[in-house]
Amino acid sequence: MRHTPWYAAMTKDEVEHSRITFYFVVYGVNLKLFNADMHIHTCLSPCGDWGMSPKIIIEKSLEKKLDIIGICDHNSAENVEAVIKAGYGKDIRVVPGMEICSKEEVHILSFFETTKQALLMQEYVYDNLPGKNSPERFGYQIVADENDEVSGENERLLIGATTLKLKEIVDKIHFLNGICIAAHVDRPAFGIISQLGFIPPDLPLDGVEISWRINPSEAIKQISDIKKFPLIVSSDAHFPDDIGKVITRFFLAEPTIDEIRLALPDKNERRTEV
Ligand SMILES: [Zn+2]
Ligand SMILES: [Zn+2]
Repeated sequence: MRHTPWYAAMTKDEVEHSRITFYFVVYGVNLKLFNADMHIHTCLSPCGDWGMSPKIIIEKSLEKKLDIIGICDHNSAENVEAVIKAGYGKDIRVVPGMEICSKEEVHILSFFETTKQALLMQEYVYDNLPGKNSPERFGYQIVADENDEVSGENERLLIGATTLKLKEIVDKIHFLNGICIAAHVDRPAFGIISQLGFIPPDLPLDGVEISWRINPSEAIKQISDIKKFPLIVSSDAHFPDDIGKVITRFFLAEPTIDEIRLALPDKNERRTEV
């Protein structure tokens, strides 16, 4: 007599759920809480304070008990590696990122597992970023090393907009296996809502960010377009004291981009809380 397999009567979702349960019981994946501030500028951003040096960013982040920080300068990732190195041996994960300005003047946050991926994104951005910075007008753009020594100045117009369409930026981030989040959607300038008035339904964002100025339930009430997206909150710190002003709580097995990618839509037991 042929036996009917035990899972034959289960729905697809039930099979998936028991698969995950099995995985957790057998492999013992422990999820941990990681306090994250994913949007921090350095002294490379013309609007960033000179005090936003790699060592000070790490110091302040540890003081605020952050476990994950995202380094997101305007249209550049040149200080990412210095902050990563400044954090060596400390209990903190520094995520390579960038805040990219699209042709429509929408700010998009990108996050990558490695600096190499972030620098490939930077290459794409630089190829499409016109203009030269005027330090007196917009501010200095300091490239620093992990010991807070100045190693140079970036002469590009980092505060400017790229000639890239929003969709082109999102696609490139995904092509490089990164995560893509619309920045400060509640703000009156350089947010997707302020610039376009809505979120294009075919734009495959991984999430949206709200600023510290609004609480999440109020944001969802006011901006109905963001309802269907995972939400993060970040400080968008330009000054050391603003680091960790608000935090996103990630429940992950480890602080990697792959784990955050699961946590944003609350998949495989991972989750995100704001
Ligand atoms: Zn911005
Ligand atoms: Zn920013």
